[in-house]
Amino acid sequence: MAKVLLVLFPDPVDGYPQFPRDDARDTIPALPDYPNGHTLPSPEGTDFVPGQLLGSVSGELGLRAYLEGAGRELVVTSDKEGEGSVFDRELVDADVIISQPFWPAYLTPERLAKAKNLKLAVTAGIGSDHVDLDTANALGITVAEVTYSNSIAVAEHAVMQILVLVRDFVRQHEISVDGGWNIADAVERSYDVEGLDVGIFAAGRIGRAVAERLAPFGVRLHYTDRHRLPAEYEEQYGLTFHESIEDLVRHIDVLTVHAPLTEQTRGLLNDELLATMRRGSYIVNPARGAIADQDAVVRALDSGQLAGYAGDVWDPQPAPADHPWRSMAHNAMTTHTSGASLPSQAKYAAGTREILEDWFADRPIRPEYLIVEGGHYAGTGAHSYAQQEVAAV
Ligand code: NDP
Repeated sequence: MAKVLLVLFPDPVDGYPQFPRDDARDTIPALPDYPNGHTLPSPEGTDFVPGQLLGSVSGELGLRAYLEGAGRELVVTSDKEGEGSVFDRELVDADVIISQPFWPAYLTPERLAKAKNLKLAVTAGIGSDHVDLDTANALGITVAEVTYSNSIAVAEHAVMQILVLVRDFVRQHEISVDGGWNIADAVERSYDVEGLDVGIFAAGRIGRAVAERLAPFGVRLHYTDRHRLPAEYEEQYGLTFHESIEDLVRHIDVLTVHAPLTEQTRGLLNDELLATMRRGSYIVNPARGAIADQDAVVRALDSGQLAGYAGDVWDPQPAPADHPWRSMAHNAMTTHTSGASLPSQAKYAAGTREILEDWFADRPIRPEYLIVEGGHYAGTGAHSYAQQEVAAV
């Protein structure tokens, strides 16, 4: 009997909520497709109501009835850290392991070596850097993720965090909650986004969605990427291309980071790079925490070189309670929630089900979901994760 191990974030502290609940929306919009015509997940069936909390342990990504109905074993846990964890114990005979980037089940080379039956690792969401992909390749393990599922959610979050930082929303909200009304305190670091130079590091699905949403704010948009976008697109959104991140950061007031974590991007936002930014710049990073040098960010905020940092992603996850980014000056951090909105959960739960249906029926997994297959980077993975030089498009 195939065993599926599902590692999900814990339920709310007050318990798993009834659905529909009386303090939230009952429905989410039914979208026809992803932007640019990419098709939504199309499983043969789902056993959840879109808008329900699916990503926590009791939500089970809506998979239990389907898997058990087909005679498969499902183990669900949030306990994923350390050798004695349920994850560590259960992985030894799991055929399939599924986790979300918000609560990643880190599949290190050591764990992959222990998971003797493992054939498929699914990222319910986008970003499979918590899986050691080279080892997965070497062991012939398939890795897939639900491409597009939460790209727009992350883009919305990035735009929100830019506004939150530049306008100094957190301080203003705290004054309101605390019963105060000191306008001077509230606005002494509050600016407008209008007229700023905003730089996008990596114009992929999320980076482009950020550009498209920010353009109406009257900002000057800049970007860098491994490949230049078509001239008509640059013109439509007023995008200025820079050959490198080093050149980009010198010309902007706000940097928003949307590159994957690879050996080229790890630790890229370091002391040297931050020192070349305009004094009082802002950084938003919902991509991966390890793209930024943790201590360099704190130092730049302390010195005023950065006026604010809002990220959604940390290294590791969950971050320890004393992680310096929780308390550093002028931060508007969130705990990797940008891609976990309820509509995103509905999409990546359905995409996970589609991947499982195809896998168990011996059908090919959609190329846009594939990261690693048959010992090679494949599909989306061949473009996004492989370290080889990528031909210009
Ligand atoms: P895409 O693959 O669509 O875009 C990534 C872009 O990064 C591509 O345009 C790619 O270039 C570019 N790129 C890759 N490496 C470099 C580099 N070294 N220098 C410059 N550009 C580079 O991914 P998405 O937009 O969907 O997602 C981006 C990242 O966001 C994910 O990898 C993930 O880490 C993170 N993410 C975070 C989420 C969250 O919940 N916070 C949810 C979803 C994603 P090109 O293709 O031109 O070669």
